[in-house]
Amino acid sequence: MKKKINNLSDIKIENINLIIDTIKNNKGITRIELASLSGLSGMSITRIVSLLLDNDFIYEDGEISNKRGRPAKLLHINPRALYTLTIYIDVNTLIIAVVDLNNLIILQSNINSNDISSMEDYIDAAYEGYKEMIRNYRDIKEGIKCISVVCSGVVDNKKNEVIISAQLKWRNAKIGDYTRKKFGITTIVDNDVKSALIGEISNNSKYNNINLAYMDIGYGIGVGLWIGGQILRGTNNNAGEIGHITIDYNGLQCECGRRGCLNTVLNIKSFINQAQENDNNITSIEDIVNKYKAHEKWAISLVDDVCMYFSIAINNIINAYDPAIIIIGGKFIDQFKGFLDIISSSQHFTQYGSFKIDADIQLSSMGEKSYIMGGAINSQRLIFNNLFS
Ligand SMILES: [Zn+2]
Repeated sequence: MKKKINNLSDIKIENINLIIDTIKNNKGITRIELASLSGLSGMSITRIVSLLLDNDFIYEDGEISNKRGRPAKLLHINPRALYTLTIYIDVNTLIIAVVDLNNLIILQSNINSNDISSMEDYIDAAYEGYKEMIRNYRDIKEGIKCISVVCSGVVDNKKNEVIISAQLKWRNAKIGDYTRKKFGITTIVDNDVKSALIGEISNNSKYNNINLAYMDIGYGIGVGLWIGGQILRGTNNNAGEIGHITIDYNGLQCECGRRGCLNTVLNIKSFINQAQENDNNITSIEDIVNKYKAHEKWAISLVDDVCMYFSIAINNIINAYDPAIIIIGGKFIDQFKGFLDIISSSQHFTQYGSFKIDADIQLSSMGEKSYIMGGAINSQRLIFNNLFS
C-alpha cells in the first residue's frame, strides 16, 4: 500500500471512512451520488476518491450517461486490496475467518475447542487452524494486515488485554501481545458484544444515524450501545456490561465475586443448570423449549423467570440509554426458537415494557457473523487510521 503524503493534512479520517462505507453499501456509485449520500462537498469527494484510487482501495469502471454532462464513471471497492483475520472466542467456540474489503467472509474455519480453556491454548489452536486454512491461499495470506481477537469479558481495547472474562475464566490475559507474536501480524482485541454491535451497524446503513442497543445473550449477557453515531465505550471500555448489574441483592454468587448479577440468572448455562435440577435428561435449550411447549410445569416456571429477567434488563436499557431500536442476538436467542413471541406475550413484559417511551425490539439476523464482521471493521479502521491520519 502506498500513501500520498502531500495532500492528506486537511482530509479528515472520518470522511475517508464515510466514503469507503458509502461505496461499500452502494456498489457501482458515481461521484455525484457519493456527494449526495455522504453530504460532503464535490471538492472533498474528488480528493478522497483520488486518494483511494491511488491506494487501490477502490477502482472505477463502466460509465453511465448523464443527460446534462459528461458520462460518469462507477466506483467500486477493490475487495482484494485488504484482508483481515478475525479470531472469535467464546465458551465451546473458536472461529477464525478472513474478511475482504467488501466485508465478505472468504475463508472460515470452526475449530473444535471443547478441551481448551487457557488463553494461550486458544490462540495456539487458532494458529494451527489458520496455517491449515490458509495453506493454499498465498495471496490472501500476504494481504492480511491486521488480526482482531473478539472475546467475552471486560477488554482493555487500548492495551489489547482481557481484564476479566467470567465466561472464559481469564484474568489479565495479554492476548493481543501473545497473538501478535504467534502470528507476526498487528493484533487488536475487543469485547464480543461491542464487536457484534459494530457488525450489525455495518450490515445495515440505516442504523448509522439511530440510537441503537444490541443485547447479546449467550454464556453471558451484555449490551453494546450505538449513541450519536458512535459506539459508547465508557472510561474502561466497560459501558454496557449489564451482566454484572445487581438484580438480586441476596442472589446467587457470580464469577465476578459479587452476588445476584444478571449473569447468574440469564444465560445458557444457568438456564440449563436450573432445568437439570428438575429433569436430568435436559442437555440443551431446545430440550427446555420442547418441555415448555408440552406444558411441563417446571419448564413454564423457568421460562417465566427468563421473561421476567429479560423484561427487567430491557427496562433498564431503555431507561439508561433511550435507544430507538434494541437488537437482540446471541447463542441463547439463536437456540430458543420463538423467544420474542413468548417474551412479548408474558405479563412481565407488559409490566416492565409498557413505558411512555418505547423502543422497537428486533431479533438479529446475523448470528455468529456479527462478531466476525465487527472484528473485521475494527481491523479495517485501524489500518485506515494508520495510513491516512
Ligand atoms: Zn457478576
